Amino acid sequence: MDAIDNLKRSILEEYDRLDKKDSFKFACHPGVSCYNDCCADVNIFLTPYDIIRMKNHLGISSKEFLAKYTLTPIDKSQRYPVVIMKMADNETKSCQFVSEKGCTIYSDRPWPCRMYPLGLASPSEGSVDEEFYFLMKEDICKGFAESNEWTVEEWLEDQEINIYNEMGDLFKQITLHPTFESGKDLSPEKIEMFHLVCYNIDKFRQFIFDSSFLQKFEVDSETLERIRKDDVELFKFGVEWIKFCIFGERTMKINREATRGTKS
Ligand code: SF4
Ligand code: SF4
Repeated sequence: MDAIDNLKRSILEEYDRLDKKDSFKFACHPGVSCYNDCCADVNIFLTPYDIIRMKNHLGISSKEFLAKYTLTPIDKSQRYPVVIMKMADNETKSCQFVSEKGCTIYSDRPWPCRMYPLGLASPSEGSVDEEFYFLMKEDICKGFAESNEWTVEEWLEDQEINIYNEMGDLFKQITLHPTFESGKDLSPEKIEMFHLVCYNIDKFRQFIFDSSFLQKFEVDSETLERIRKDDVELFKFGVEWIKFCIFGERTMKINREATRGTKS
């Protein structure tokens, strides 16, 4: 049994499942004695949507963002590349975005920072429909002693989680793709393409517009207009492209004439 299975088992055993109407007491604000203590030495996995929000908040390219603020851990048991936030190289290994006044990218902070103190888990891999929420009570966190009462539903709304979950579900269409059930590893080329689409969205745009891609595939003008400007629309297009080029689904329309032209 690997580390992820162990973690899932301990979540199922140790934490109570919460329904959307269940309530809990919690508040986080500059008045709590632990303020900012949790923004250090943490493994925060980033989704494609997290990266789009954060790099646009900072006004930098996805390439710069990945280089400065993230790490791509290599673990042979992973089926696809993952990206985590790089903590600062200081004594406490603080998050690079934390300040005395709190999170400097608060409006675009990533999913786990919004969700806490809630977690989301599923009893078995791929069963998005069986996902449930649970409360993560950490000893260091004094927020549970506050009197503010929330239902799970209210918390999700307050933290603007819904758009993150919607985009997370889209990401799961590829991370939980049935192809992975065969246990077959992705080739290095496919891993590179997955990384490009999911994490380096500005470079993926160059791949679409500055290569022969648009000669080889038919993309309608409305879609082109959307993906030229909008990172989220481009990622949605990228998910369809990954289904085609990595998982062999018929999600893209090949330009037969151009393909014939290259062969003759
Ligand atoms: S992104 Fe913001 S909320 Fe999340 S760990 Fe860093 S400082 Fe804290
Ligand atoms: S430990 Fe809890 S209360 Fe303290 S800053 Fe972090 S989330 Fe807020």
